Amino acid sequence: MRILVSNDDGIHARGLRMLVGGLSNLGEVFVVAPDRERSATGHSITVHRPLRAKKTRIPGFDVQSWAVDGTPADCVKLAIEDLLADPPDLVVSGINQGPNLGTDVLYSGTVSAAIEGAINGFPSIAVSLASYCYQDFSPAGAFIREFIPFLLRADLPRNTLLNVNVPGTERPLGVKITRLGNRRYVNIFEKRVDPRGRIYYWVAGEPLEAQEDPSGTETDVEAVKNNYISITPLQLDLTDYAAIEQLRFLADFK
Ligand code: MN
Repeated sequence: MRILVSNDDGIHARGLRMLVGGLSNLGEVFVVAPDRERSATGHSITVHRPLRAKKTRIPGFDVQSWAVDGTPADCVKLAIEDLLADPPDLVVSGINQGPNLGTDVLYSGTVSAAIEGAINGFPSIAVSLASYCYQDFSPAGAFIREFIPFLLRADLPRNTLLNVNVPGTERPLGVKITRLGNRRYVNIFEKRVDPRGRIYYWVAGEPLEAQEDPSGTETDVEAVKNNYISITPLQLDLTDYAAIEQLRFLADFK
């Protein structure tokens, strides 16, 4: 099995090394990752300057690796189109330091690398350690190593990716299949004054406490808060099919 690994924390990130270590036992690992941290770059790609991919080494591992001076989406695109001699069987992005929950998946470079894999028709997984302060990636790494063979035996829908968030604790309580929650923030911008008296803003923000959801399916936000590993299947089609019916009358607009 050929496994393409990428991330958005950069090729030197500890979470990526944990993933490479775990996945090397499952198949041939190829790493194509940003040469520096590119968190929160979403699905952006580089179009206004050339991209360069530099052959590199991940210390301690004998895997083919490239550091790319672009975004996570650039990395996966380039890997599939040129760097890898043959297509991968699986794309895994992470392990990100920090959660990628709810609406935040739209800003996430980690998730976007997996989305790029899914766009190209490959089974793809994004993995995040849902904490900024918990530094131990080994529970998340161990889970992914056990989970992937189990996953590949199942028949996954094409163009669907899995967004996995592992809580920052030594022993998660189990696994929940979830839907995306609504991740809202308060005090998003800190407003400050620079030494020349001009105002500047720094994006920060505290997530609002998740609201209980009456619809039944637990959200990823709740699952992680309750110390469960959250697995959310994501699809690429953002179309609101119900709204198509509701908006049919607009076709009469002249
Ligand atoms: Mn990141």
